[in-house]
Amino acid sequence: MVKQTIQIFARVKPTVRKQQQGIYSIDEDEKLTPSLEIILPRDLADGFVNNKRESYRFKFQRIFDQNEKQETIFENIAKPVAESVLAGYNGTIFAYGQTGSGKTFTITGGAERYSDRGIIPRTLSYIFEQLQKDSSKIYTTHISYLEIYNECGYDLLDPRHEASSLEDLPKVTVLEDPDQNIHLKNLSLHQATTEEEALNLLFLGDTNRMIAETPMNQASTRSHCIFTIHLSSKEPGSATVRQAKLHLVDLAGSERVAKTGVGGQLLTEAKYINLSLHYLEQVIIALSEKHRSHIPYRNSMMTSVLRDSLGGNCMTTMIATLSLEKRNIDESISTCRFAQRVALIKNEAVLNEEIDPRLMIIRLQKEIQELKDELAIVTGEQRTEALTEAELLQLEKRITSFLEDQHPESKLEVGADMRKIHHCFHYLKKLLNDKNIHGTSIASSEIKDQNSQEPLKEEEYKKLRDILQQRDNEINILVTMLKKEKKKAQDALHFSSMDRSELRRSQSSPFPPGNPEGPRMLPPSAPTQAPDSSTSQYRSSLLHGKTGMREEMSLGRQEAFEIFKRDHADSVTIEDNKQILKQRFSEAKALGESINEARTKIGRLKEEITQRHVQQVALGISENTPVPSTPDLLEEKLRSQLQEEKRRYKAMFTHLKALKVEIEHLQLLMDKAKVKLQKEFEAWWAEEATSLQVNSPAVNSLNHMKPFPQTPESQHERSQLLSSKSAGGWEVPDQSPRRFVSCSDLYARKILPSPGSLLHSQEQSSPSSPLEDRIPERPVSSVPLTGDSQTDSDILAFVKARQSILQRTGFQ
Ligand code: ADP
Ligand code: MG
Repeated sequence: MVKQTIQIFARVKPTVRKQQQGIYSIDEDEKLTPSLEIILPRDLADGFVNNKRESYRFKFQRIFDQNEKQETIFENIAKPVAESVLAGYNGTIFAYGQTGSGKTFTITGGAERYSDRGIIPRTLSYIFEQLQKDSSKIYTTHISYLEIYNECGYDLLDPRHEASSLEDLPKVTVLEDPDQNIHLKNLSLHQATTEEEALNLLFLGDTNRMIAETPMNQASTRSHCIFTIHLSSKEPGSATVRQAKLHLVDLAGSERVAKTGVGGQLLTEAKYINLSLHYLEQVIIALSEKHRSHIPYRNSMMTSVLRDSLGGNCMTTMIATLSLEKRNIDESISTCRFAQRVALIKNEAVLNEEIDPRLMIIRLQKEIQELKDELAIVTGEQRTEALTEAELLQLEKRITSFLEDQHPESKLEVGADMRKIHHCFHYLKKLLNDKNIHGTSIASSEIKDQNSQEPLKEEEYKKLRDILQQRDNEINILVTMLKKEKKKAQDALHFSSMDRSELRRSQSSPFPPGNPEGPRMLPPSAPTQAPDSSTSQYRSSLLHGKTGMREEMSLGRQEAFEIFKRDHADSVTIEDNKQILKQRFSEAKALGESINEARTKIGRLKEEITQRHVQQVALGISENTPVPSTPDLLEEKLRSQLQEEKRRYKAMFTHLKALKVEIEHLQLLMDKAKVKLQKEFEAWWAEEATSLQVNSPAVNSLNHMKPFPQTPESQHERSQLLSSKSAGGWEVPDQSPRRFVSCSDLYARKILPSPGSLLHSQEQSSPSSPLEDRIPERPVSSVPLTGDSQTDSDILAFVKARQSILQRTGFQ
């Protein structure tokens, strides 16, 4: 057992504005427990006049400042936890902090660069690398991905995600067995045999999460996500299985409702997030206080799911993510306070070992056979399941003579055979029942009618008929049983030949195979088994399903989509990644060729060495001299060349493997970005359509058009224009309502003033600008207007252009 308090780390997100410096300082002098000091700005501290403190100091295991890389975070925080999971202990890493402080960035990673990948992909990579290295054990890895939103659990890997809306999917529910182990019903568990498969599952879940998100339900900030790696290991031949789970948790934003200032549905959500975080806090407080007997885990789904991670059998780590800007001071202080509480909690992690029930059955079957064999040796006869017909007849004869024997000390001897003893009892019971039914005792009738042949015959006949009936029944039962057994054997054959994945697919039982006894035998928190991950197929079908929308698009709509795509901010990322991907592909191709060359060279060197060897031996034989004991110089040279080539080959091979993972990751990033783009286009299109219906005169609709996130180049162009314009006294329109509403603005890109206003401004200010020719080319559908006062001719020109595109895109 390992007793350990929850480890707490702090990570400070890079600030956008440099003047925010001076708000905090990190004291690394205290080597063992560094501390973070948050200095309250003068205006917030009320000028030191009242009693408000001017600075707060918090201790952390380690504090990672703004420039720390994802790699460092993994090495220092996640790797030790992954190591203990590999050793058989449960582990949890959770990120806590306000929205935008970097929780998702830390846990999952950034959406743009490979180097930005977060704890989950790096941990998967590390775990699979270690599993490959260790051939002494058999490992199995499963993945589950749970989202908790408004106190409801959703399986992010549910294949039905594509077809159904979030609300229609079966909810994941928490079940508790008598031993207080938590089981999650409807949460699928997917086997991942390689890093790529596991990565696919992560992206699949993230994409599902993104798809389910609507403007009214920005799940990414309002829900909790728990990505779990279930690892089981076993030494070959041993019946002991080690089960360990690693939860990687991205909590909902910890900001308070008051600050979010929300209403309606959002308020319900905020209430739920805050409620569940409030319950988390209550659990933390209860755990950090000594002698508290009741811990209110059951108050919320999240605390129930994380029960083991908090004050239980788990090694837990918390990352407090901080966005240390002036406006976030309050939230940052409350995040740090929360962390200080968490640091007081002690967990007791134990090795999760249990006996594999399937192996136990095999072991017991073997033992039974051995005992049977021993018994056969002692009794001198082979035991079968049932008594033979001859044995039964003999036994019944003995019973009859025993019953007939009037001697008070007569005995029924059947030997130490339970089958015979049982049969005697059955037979006697049957006789007794017969006697009760017919109201006559066989024995007494025999005595009474000793001299009368007829009634005796009648009795005999009846008895025989009954026995016959009995036999018939028995035979029927046996035939039925036999049939069942035969079917079972056939099923078993079929079963073993069936593909494992198919087998799981067909299983609707909530218990894993080999666990027929249900929850009692389940490993703690074992969720439902689910289809094996032929994940890439699964992913591609999902992505196809999502992007397949285009197949049904009208030509006009497709055209609009192309334009939307071209001008979308993310297209830069997609394009960048496409370039990197291309580069990686050619690198991989070149590397593959070099590897092949190296392989050929190795083969050739080996061949040369063998030939040289044969030559030496042949020379020795022909000249009748022994083979020289000192190695031949040429052979030595060849050998060192071979070694060198092998080293090179290995290095290249490792590099190629890493490249493969990177390529896979980049492809997944791109797939995800494409789905996001498609989703945003659909939303934008739908909104345009509604605004068209509501405001039929085109002029009215102008103010309702929403811009979409646009490429940095176009932003850049415009910002240049803007700066030239503002110099001339032109006002920058208010940007806030122009944000694309359905976009979660993951990349925090700023949407600059719309080209409509720029077109206008440009005409006024610098008609000879080189951009002039390019702007009119911009599609009208992407030219939202500012609503600023414009000249009639401008409006008319715009309306004309807009109508033409609407005609082309099929709206008019
Ligand atoms: P949260 O999940 O806490 O709401 P995110 O992880 O989504 O926050 O971060 C918000 C934005 O800040 C994202 O665009 C993310 O890429 C960026 N970000 C967060 N942390 C870092 C970091 N350490 N380095 C660079 N960018 C970061
Ligand atoms: Mg997030």
